[in-house]
Order: sequence, then structure tokens, then C-alpha cells
Amino acid sequence: MNPYTIFADIVAGRAPASRVYEDDDVLAFMDIRPFTPGHLLVIPKIPARSLAELDPALGAKLFTVGQRLAAALRDSEVACDGVNLFLADGIAAGQEVFHVHLHVIPRTAGDGFGLRGRPTSPPRADLDYLANSIRAALNHG
Ligand code: AMP
Repeated sequence: MNPYTIFADIVAGRAPASRVYEDDDVLAFMDIRPFTPGHLLVIPKIPARSLAELDPALGAKLFTVGQRLAAALRDSEVACDGVNLFLADGIAAGQEVFHVHLHVIPRTAGDGFGLRGRPTSPPRADLDYLANSIRAALNHG
């Protein structure tokens, strides 16, 4: 799959973007279809289609910049009483642009944004079973 998306064009300056933050590794800009006003995206400048392809050090940097942007949103003119950080990894998770990006979404009460889905209450044995499986995968990764 081609790793180049519209976000690579934005990084290169070939496509327009309302830039908010930039350094050698990371770029943050306004989402053109914001869930709420002030919705930002933070991306690595080097394209990675998925978390699996993303250098973990860059992933850490995305979060660090997202954290700073969350603070800036609260101090800006954006209506922001809370913030959601959200990252969709894979089609099943809702990813549409295959260049990893962290959504930084300012929140106010009743703004209509939310994740659908109902929490369940599985028995402890089920939690332990999956915990074992994930721990094993972690140890072999
Ligand atoms: P996702 O569903 O997590 O892949 O989100 C992709 C996001 O990229 C959506 O929120 C889009 O509105 C946003 N987006 C797509 N194209 C652009 C663009 N050219 N400039 C800014 N945001 C964009």
C-alpha cells in the first residue's frame, strides 16, 4: 500500500493546512472536518501507516505534543472544558487516513462528541484469560 496520503502533501507544503505546531519530527494542524471547534491532528512527519510501523520514540513524541496542545487549547479562545485524545489504528477502528495521527479534541458539556459502545461486565476468569494471552504476546514481541 502506498504510504503517501494527503498528510504527506501537507508535511511537504504541497497541500494547505492551518498549522499550529511544527518541529523536526512532528506537525500539528487543524482538522478540516472537526468534531468540535479547535479539533487538531498531530502527525509524524515521516509517514507510518499504522502503529505497527511507527517508531515508538515518535509515538511518544506524538503524545507529548498532544499533551502540550491539550493545555494550549484550554488556554486559548477555543471552548474547552476537557480534551479527548484519540487515535484510530486500522479500518476496524475507524482509520480513514493511513498516516498515523493523534486527534486532540476539545470538549464541552453537551457537544455531541462521544464513542459509541456499551461497557460489558465479563467474569474475572475471562479477564484473566485475555490478560494471559496479551501478556504472552507482549513478552514475545
Ligand atoms: P481518521 O478517521 O482517524 O483516519 O481521521 C482522519 C481525519 O483527517 C478526519 O478527522 C478528517 O477530517 C481529517 N482530514 C482529512 N483530510 C484532511 C486535510 N486535508 N486537512 C486536515 N484534516 C484532514
